Amino acid sequence: MSLLGNILDYNRSFVSEKKYKQYETTKFPNKKMVILTCMDTRLLELLPNALNVKNGDVKIVKNAGALVMHPFGSIMRSLLVAVYQLQAQEVLVIGHHDCGMSGMKPDVILGEMKARGVTEEILETLNYSGINVNEWLHGFENVNESVAHSVDVIKNHPLMPKDTPVHGLVIDPKTGKLDLVIDGYSKN
Ligand SMILES: [Zn+2]
Repeated sequence: MSLLGNILDYNRSFVSEKKYKQYETTKFPNKKMVILTCMDTRLLELLPNALNVKNGDVKIVKNAGALVMHPFGSIMRSLLVAVYQLQAQEVLVIGHHDCGMSGMKPDVILGEMKARGVTEEILETLNYSGINVNEWLHGFENVNESVAHSVDVIKNHPLMPKDTPVHGLVIDPKTGKLDLVIDGYSKN
């Protein structure tokens, strides 16, 4: 059976056996916060458990690297919606060690794209349209600096309320240990 077939098959019994009952909650976070973190597979269950957050406790926004790439992109929009519409009162940015975005080389990913049919012509067209694909695909060198940068963008965003604490942390994807990078309660 295909991957999708397996999912749909399992889903039928999940619903019919009412396995959803244990997850029933509301769209408002019990712990009044929104977390921006990485899509890394190791964090899927580890991160919520390491922070003692359960279904219904928090909003979680994920992307590759827990990065705010653009102040008016979808990540920032999600964080603002969480704060203004969904009762989040604090923001946590949680990067992690051994992230796939750490030291990601645009050349390597561009090579993969070309091998799978993206032509030089397409890349040139994008460049002519003002899209710097190389820059766009760039990762980060240092996770602490990257988290601090994301915190800075969120904290100083013109639409973010000034009294919203924005914290920065780094998690170990093996042990779940958190290291504090930016304490959002501190005035500095
Ligand atoms: Zn990552």
